Amino acid sequence: MATLTRRHFFKLSAAGVGGGSLLLAAGLGPADAAGGLQLHKKIGESASICPFCSVGCGLIVATNDTGHVTNLEGDPDNPVNRGVLCPKGIAVRELSTSPLRLHTVKHRAPGSADWEDKTWDEAISEIAKRIKKTRDATWVATATVDGKAVPVNRTEGIAWLGGAANNNEEGYLSTKLARALGIVYLEHQARI
Ligand code: SF4
Repeated sequence: MATLTRRHFFKLSAAGVGGGSLLLAAGLGPADAAGGLQLHKKIGESASICPFCSVGCGLIVATNDTGHVTNLEGDPDNPVNRGVLCPKGIAVRELSTSPLRLHTVKHRAPGSADWEDKTWDEAISEIAKRIKKTRDATWVATATVDGKAVPVNRTEGIAWLGGAANNNEEGYLSTKLARALGIVYLEHQARI
């Protein structure tokens, strides 16, 4: 049974403009009416963030029992967009439902014209190997400041780019990892 969320409250308020006297005539208040709402199908609603630009509008994504997206709309409780989405944001649903969506890691070897499927284990292991190799090759232990060598412990061969879809926790963790690796070229999509 549905509970009285802010969205239900707005819907009931709107309905109440036309039907309020009917409810009162039947001896029912808004809370009674909300408690009586029954969903025909089970849905799971999750709050999320639009990944397309740095505005970071809030979304409510509904999924069915098999995890497929069945509905997507702006989150009226999110202070950034208060329920409004631009045309790109409304199309976020297609990131999940489009038949063109990629489901595997694709790799194109240097000089090759063909893409090969890779597993996530293979991709992560390759990325880790390349980070280690580049970091070792470009490590800077000290720099000269005012004629003196001071420790800086950084790599100048790797840059790290964050995206607007990263939430606060992901941003915190990825920044922490980048700093731990000694990366100083740390940027964000919104500043480019
Ligand atoms: S809904 Fe539009 S404005 Fe909001 S984050 Fe997505 S792309 Fe940006």
